[in-house]
Amino acid sequence: MAIIAKEQLRANLDEIIWNIEEARISVSEHHIVQLVAVGKYTDIENIEMLYKLGQRAFGENQVQQLKERTNILKELPLQWHMIGSLQKNKINNLIDLNPTLMQSLDSLELALELDKKLKAKSSKMNCLIQINSANEDTKSGFSSQEAYDIYQTIKDSCTNINLKGVMSIGANSEDKKLIQKSFETTYDIYEKLQKDGATICSMGMSGDYQLAIRCGSNLVRVGSALFK
Ligand SMILES: *Cc1c(COP(=O)(O)O)cnc(C)c1O
Repeated sequence: MAIIAKEQLRANLDEIIWNIEEARISVSEHHIVQLVAVGKYTDIENIEMLYKLGQRAFGENQVQQLKERTNILKELPLQWHMIGSLQKNKINNLIDLNPTLMQSLDSLELALELDKKLKAKSSKMNCLIQINSANEDTKSGFSSQEAYDIYQTIKDSCTNINLKGVMSIGANSEDKKLIQKSFETTYDIYEKLQKDGATICSMGMSGDYQLAIRCGSNLVRVGSALFK
């Protein structure tokens, strides 16, 4: 980790915003995409600098890091997203941090436990379910087959969780076609869930965010391409 020069950060951000713009316009002028800057590999100084350059939404994959950073930067009007797997013993910590969006609800057990603890604290949380759309052993999340039904189950039984949509990580492959297929699978599920109020389809990282947007993503999570 190191401090990145302001001009470098500005150039990285400009390039990514430009690429997002190009991809989203190819879908529709009305297709709006949110950029979440993933800070997990970078220093907090770079997050603060990126905020000064206009970025508001940031993502972290560990509750501990999220806690430290939200605390240090609490004077800034930032939106914090939790994007990593949540251990059961960290649920209360996460609730206390009141994230804008928890993107990585990856098991029914976790959803039930989170809901129980939210109720105990009279809190609510905006969440996405994580879909393992390429059915990879190395990834957590619901299979594409079960995702639709699970969404209904969580929506009906976890009343303190506000389900907002889906999140997925593209297939881990060099083959663009395979990655595209995994995004299309996630998007199909998202499309069906729109009647249940789903509004967020979170797909796309540094290596594949333009492709993800062309497949319908409206939230991209970009880390290494921003903080380089
Ligand atoms: C690390 C991470 C990202 C960002 O990855 P980059 O390839 O560095 O852009 C996005 N989403 C999740 C869930 C992550 O863990």
